Amino acid sequence: MVMNRQVAEQLAEACRILGAWDMTHGAEGHVSYWDGESDSILIRGKGADQLGVRYTRTSDIVEVDFDSNTLEGGRAGVRSPSESFLHTWIFRQNPEIRSVVHMHPRHAMLLTICEKEIFPMHGRVYQGAKLAVDGIDTYPTSITIHDHDKGERFAHFMGKKKVALMRGHGITVVGTSIEDATVRALELNELLKITYEAYLLGDPKPLPEGDIEYLRSEHQPDRPRGAAGGEKGMLANYRYYAMMSGEMEVPVD
Ligand SMILES: [Zn+2]
Repeated sequence: MVMNRQVAEQLAEACRILGAWDMTHGAEGHVSYWDGESDSILIRGKGADQLGVRYTRTSDIVEVDFDSNTLEGGRAGVRSPSESFLHTWIFRQNPEIRSVVHMHPRHAMLLTICEKEIFPMHGRVYQGAKLAVDGIDTYPTSITIHDHDKGERFAHFMGKKKVALMRGHGITVVGTSIEDATVRALELNELLKITYEAYLLGDPKPLPEGDIEYLRSEHQPDRPRGAAGGEKGMLANYRYYAMMSGEMEVPVD
């Protein structure tokens, strides 16, 4: 895949939005894109002059192959992140996936350190409720995914999951577009924050089974009333997160 300027700009924007929403600290974390057929991906790289995920520049995006070699860098000194194996192995095993988000949000660390179960405990007031209807699994080790062996094992653990926690480390989220993976990561983070606060307050209980079934079945792309579902709803949420983080101008009628 030849470095695509538009995709690189999209990846950098997604990184800045995730950074603005406190999804990680410093330079730890990346968003990637794969076109589905090339033997390389685009991903946020690392360099000595980096400014952190929150301040990602388009020139921080690098093209790397499936052995984590940097093929093309946005600027001198920016290289493939060591955890690119996490991304490339997920793509390799899931041809339908176009984007992977890996971040280190604080609440994911806290909940996995304390081995707190994540389950549906609130309705769809936050979109993330649906992510937990079948539970959310935690990868049992905090070791970074920095070689083929670890990448393969982690991709096997992910299977067809769309989200996963990583013990004392962070989260990995996949999507069919950069926006899809970004919004899902932000929704997961909202769920984790509410879960954390519920455990602080006391002893949270799962929703009644009927409510969980409703969440599981709810997918109405063209609902006659209220917010759009499906792709349109996801893009609306992306714009919301982008505007809240100052990445997009707020339109005024
Ligand atoms: Zn990591």
